[in-house]
Amino acid sequence: PVHFARRVEDLSESSIFHIGRRAKALSDQGHDIVRMDAGEPDFDTPRWIIDAAKQALDDGYTRYTPIAGLSILKDAIRNKFERENGLHFRDSEVMHSCGAKQALFNACLSLLGPADEVVIPSPHWGSYPAIAKIAGARIVEAPTRLEDGFVLTPETLERCMSERTRVVLLNTPNNPTGQIYSRDALAALGDVLLNYPNAFVITDDIYEHLRFGSEPFTNILNACPSLKDRTVVINGVSKAYAMTGWRVGIVAGPELLIAEMLKLQGQTNSHTAAVSQVAAAAALNGGLDDVHRMTNRFAQRARLVQEGIDRIGKIDCQPAQGSFYCLPDFSRVIESLDEVEDDQELGEWLLDELGIAMVPGSAFNAPGHMRLSFAANEESLQKGMERLQKAFA
Ligand code: PLP
Repeated sequence: PVHFARRVEDLSESSIFHIGRRAKALSDQGHDIVRMDAGEPDFDTPRWIIDAAKQALDDGYTRYTPIAGLSILKDAIRNKFERENGLHFRDSEVMHSCGAKQALFNACLSLLGPADEVVIPSPHWGSYPAIAKIAGARIVEAPTRLEDGFVLTPETLERCMSERTRVVLLNTPNNPTGQIYSRDALAALGDVLLNYPNAFVITDDIYEHLRFGSEPFTNILNACPSLKDRTVVINGVSKAYAMTGWRVGIVAGPELLIAEMLKLQGQTNSHTAAVSQVAAAAALNGGLDDVHRMTNRFAQRARLVQEGIDRIGKIDCQPAQGSFYCLPDFSRVIESLDEVEDDQELGEWLLDELGIAMVPGSAFNAPGHMRLSFAANEESLQKGMERLQKAFA
């Protein structure tokens, strides 16, 4: 057999892509598949952002840019953090990347080596452990519980910390749980982190604007400003502005770390397309009207699926507070089905028997659960809920 490098042989294919591919294949064959597996808004990028990109092409934004990004983008990033998050950063403390994903990759590869530990609250997005693995670091799963609203407690964090902890990853609003960390919850985590001066915090705020309540957004730096010299804030335009395909992430962090991340990015893909950078700058500078319009739709859909699930009875689900996901507990459904042993088999079963695509919770270290994405139109979600009720209620 042909062998490849350990770092790729050890990686498993994301089951998000696996389910997505199977769902698409079945749809293409003419099956009526309800897609509740998507990790991206079903909305189009707002027209004014597309217009800004067209103009950028006419204006000649077709060449290499600085590694950190065009100055119009870096200014937009600094202003965004100042205006929306109350966080002040200098020009040398911000950069763009090719999606929030590359920002995470840059940060983890700049911080983590083989002797280091990374604490990841679970359930979590599957790319966190994958990136940590590529960096060679040891993954410490920090479990959260439905009873705590899937929010990491200071006690659990303390138990997971050690002399070797180099990175603690936080993600709020959360993929896949749809839950949000309150300022108090973050302050309590900050108190623990103050005792571990070698540990950096990476806060992944990509779902910041997709919140359904009136509480203002808080990240760990708002709750615990003294962590500023060891916190990396990651965000982007993908989810809030329906710009997943443009590939622009934004980062703010300590100058010395940003410099390392720039070296890494400079030796890999250099930067995202110039035209995407101009579009992202326009998005960040362009106000939140469209973001709020889309968020309102997601909020309505969150209620629609919650009501649908509650009507079934045997599926527990914490109502989503943000993002466009929730994480219903299907363990009693799994028990009730002879031909299904776990959530992975349930994922296949739901697709084959009910024509419903959802990602198995195991992909997020949440066995027994399924991640339900409501980034789909209301009609289709309604149909999905009816199929589930018919099968399980
Ligand atoms: N972070 C989280 C928690 C995500 O769910 C995703 C996308 O699914 C990303 C980051 C990646 O964002 P981007 O498309 O900007 O790379």
